[in-house]
Formats: sequence, C-alpha cells, structure tokens
Amino acid sequence: MYGGRPLAFVEQSMLDWLVRGGAIPSMLGPVDPSIDRSIYAELLQPFDALILQGGVDVSPTWYGETPRSPEWAGDRARDEYEFALFRAAVAANKPVLGICRGHQLINVALGGSLFQDITTDHPNALQHRNAALYQRNQHDVSFVPGGMLHRIYETHHAVINSVHHQGIKQLAPGLEVLARAPDDVIESVMLPVESSQDPWVLGVQWHPEFQTPDDRLLPTQPLLDALFDAIKRRSATD
Ligand code: MN
Repeated sequence: MYGGRPLAFVEQSMLDWLVRGGAIPSMLGPVDPSIDRSIYAELLQPFDALILQGGVDVSPTWYGETPRSPEWAGDRARDEYEFALFRAAVAANKPVLGICRGHQLINVALGGSLFQDITTDHPNALQHRNAALYQRNQHDVSFVPGGMLHRIYETHHAVINSVHHQGIKQLAPGLEVLARAPDDVIESVMLPVESSQDPWVLGVQWHPEFQTPDDRLLPTQPLLDALFDAIKRRSATD
C-alpha cells in the first residue's frame, strides 16, 4: 500500500524499552540525502542523547570494500543520515548509545571496518545470528577488566542476545573495547571518558530492547542508567 516508497521507522520494542527505562523517545528525520546535513545540529538541539538503533547492514563501501553479496550492500542513504546525526551529537557533546547496527556504525564513522559476514569472514565464529531463534539466540561475553561494563555490572562474564551477521573487524582509532564474545568478536565499544567534556559514546552489539524477562541475560537498565548519568553530568556542567 506504500507503493514502494521508502519508510523510516522505529521498532516498537525500542520505544517500549526506552519509555519503561525512563526516557522520552522520538525519532529524528529527515533521511533524504538532498536535504542539507547542517539541519541535524538544530534537530538534535532539544534532545539529551542520541540512540542509533539496529537494522540493515552498514554499506561496506564506507570502509573501502565492495559488497561481496547483493544482500550485504546495505543502505547508503540511511548510513549517511546516521553518520550525520552521530557527528552532530558528538559535536554537541550529547551522549550516544549505538545498538547492534548502531554499534557497528559508530566504528565505521570513526574509521574502522566490519566483517561483511561473520560466518564467512571469521573462521570458528560462534553463532551470532539464528533466524529461527532470533532474539532468543544467546552467547557469553567477557567484560574487559576496568572497562565501563565491568564497573557498572561488577562481573567479568555475562550472557547476552545476538542477532547480527556483521561485526567489527578493524577497530576504529580511539575506541576502547569493553566486551568480547568467546570467539573474540567485539561486542561492546566506548570512547574513553576522562571528564564530562569528552564525548560519551557507547556501542553494544546485542539488543537490550529485544529482551523479554530472562534471568540468564544481562539486565538492561544499567545501560540506560549509565546514559542518564552521562546526560546529568553534562547538564550539571552547562
Ligand atoms: Mn554476538
């Protein structure tokens, strides 16, 4: 019924997770590449933080590769829109949380690269996506000692859900690894934070917003609380 017109959408569980967690989410546009990117600084102005959600592959063309399969080509228009939002948020010192694709997009925006497909690019990879299990596909992660996830969760090991077939290959300069899967796939990254003057940028490869109550899984609220704390520290220094 949309006649093939492009849609810009938010997955409902993302909105539910954020509202339950204490945030007031709103989707930002426009996406159309013909619209001047300088508009993003203004669009972001009323918001405390930016969340980059999951979805389609990041185009391999951004890190100098051609898509090895047509279904791994991604969506350059969406990438450009999210790169612009990401840069505007960092420039305005607004905290950024990247989820799944968002985590990968942060790495590419900062100069890193991705596995186009973990299963073919990473020998001995564990199963990071399973179409039948979807968000019920789970694996272990280890938190890097002293990193933010280790500090806020006070544990070295956790179980998270996994619904991705791309993953970080070359880590972007400046990013710090916070968590890895048992096959060494990078599951969380952050820009190091020394003070509230530094950008607060966190990426997680898993989907906190897809979680249904499951005692095995890492609780999701501490991630949002860390984001809220970063927002508060910034408003205190304004
Ligand atoms: Mn994974």
